Amino acid sequence: MPRDCQEAIKNPVFTTIVDSSKELALETYVIGGYVRDFLLGKRSPKDIDIVTVGSGIALAQKVAEKLSGKPRVQVFKNFGTAMVHYQNHELEFVGARKESYSKDSRKPRVEDGNLEDDQRRRDFTINTLAISLNEATYGQLLDPFQGLQDLEKGIIRTPLDPGITYSDDPLRMLRAIRFAAQLDFSIELSSLQAITIHKDRIKIVSRERIVDELHKIILCDRPSTGLKLLHKTELLPLILPELSALEGIEEIEGQRHKDNFWHTLEVLDNIARHTDDLWLRWAALLHDIGKAPTKRFDKKIGWTFHAHEFVGSKMVYKLFKRMRMPLNEKMKFVQKLVLLSSRPIILSQDFVTDSAVRRLIFDAGDQIEALMTLCEADITTKNPVRQKKYLSNFKLVREKMTEVEERDRIRNFQPPISGELIMATFNIPPSKEIGLIKDAIKEAILDGVIPNEYRPAYQFMLDQGRKLGLEPLKNKE
Ligand code: ATP
Ligand code: MG
Repeated sequence: MPRDCQEAIKNPVFTTIVDSSKELALETYVIGGYVRDFLLGKRSPKDIDIVTVGSGIALAQKVAEKLSGKPRVQVFKNFGTAMVHYQNHELEFVGARKESYSKDSRKPRVEDGNLEDDQRRRDFTINTLAISLNEATYGQLLDPFQGLQDLEKGIIRTPLDPGITYSDDPLRMLRAIRFAAQLDFSIELSSLQAITIHKDRIKIVSRERIVDELHKIILCDRPSTGLKLLHKTELLPLILPELSALEGIEEIEGQRHKDNFWHTLEVLDNIARHTDDLWLRWAALLHDIGKAPTKRFDKKIGWTFHAHEFVGSKMVYKLFKRMRMPLNEKMKFVQKLVLLSSRPIILSQDFVTDSAVRRLIFDAGDQIEALMTLCEADITTKNPVRQKKYLSNFKLVREKMTEVEERDRIRNFQPPISGELIMATFNIPPSKEIGLIKDAIKEAILDGVIPNEYRPAYQFMLDQGRKLGLEPLKNKE
């Protein structure tokens, strides 16, 4: 990998930064994620972090003045930082600093410092790498902590003693795991040990920040890498105890159930190959959480997890609420998928009937595709015969779905007979009978007794009304 990094700072925005820095007689560097990602061969990362020995805010203001369109400078006085949005970049400016921490907060005391002080306060050696934007050393890589070597070896290591690094700011524990998962790097052993020792410090990190990191882990190509590290460092029970509770295999009278934690990780990796949808991936992660509280052993049938889908969907709400995640349609989507997560499998284990398929489409609505994706990912059996059987049954379910949907349009079901028409036909006021008749029509359509069409539904309504002792007005069809 290059030590001369002029290529990294070709973007004309750097010329402006260099000129501004020179005018203010500052010493300035680009640092952190931008440099790391450049060296990893990722093209033009979005955020550009700039550190200057002096006032980052003054530099930001000077740069913004010179840039076309004079973008606004967002100043964060308390942090001594400033942000400029320019084209599709976020330029973040900070003055080089030393940091010292107190026990009860992630917020450090800050003093001015030089470049190396600033590199030392950063979380990982791969994030300390800096490129000079100064005339004499322009484009040179400054790497006092052997970050380049760690980048080449694929190692997450802290510039300072790991114990101090993680207990000072425990968010770094999650960042270490997230970077390991994103970059497919390994975390140095002494770091892993320090994280495990200081895991309880995670309590001082806000839930929003934790969730941010969890989202990033879940969005990785192989999310299980991150979850396994959370498990190994014993952070998982502190963050997502519902998942930890799934771990383990019990045996009674020679009967064992599968380990639902490791199964869940496989499901998550499987689904990651088919979708980038964050919430569908969350649904995969949570689809079995109801199994821990519902697990029972029955002498006749063995292990059961009765109604775990229902219990699990209730737990989704509690989990989202605790983690301050959105309680909106995203949460409802995850809940719905958890609730329905066993349906396609149950259906495909039996003879696949039209009416079962219609009911599934009716219940899943627009989420039917996501549900099928989840259920296919849920097949983790290592038995090739069984796997083949499940997959071919799913194919059959999908074929039947297309066929039934073309004919009966159940997906966004609109009743063919309205309540108004029922009232007018039998000349009755709003009443319980109307609900009963509407429901009977819906059930008849789902069961395939009548097609989803007006005329047969009308006839069916007349029959149902008569059964309830209602007489239609004459000449009213
Ligand atoms: P990405 O943007 O891909 O998440 P990044 O490395 O750019 O990765 P940011 O959160 O944007 O991460 O932070 C920018 C830089 O600030 C990092 O590269 C690192 O040097 C430093 N940094 C961020 N968070 C911390 C932290 N909690 N402790 C120490 N240094 C940090
Ligand atoms: Mg960044």
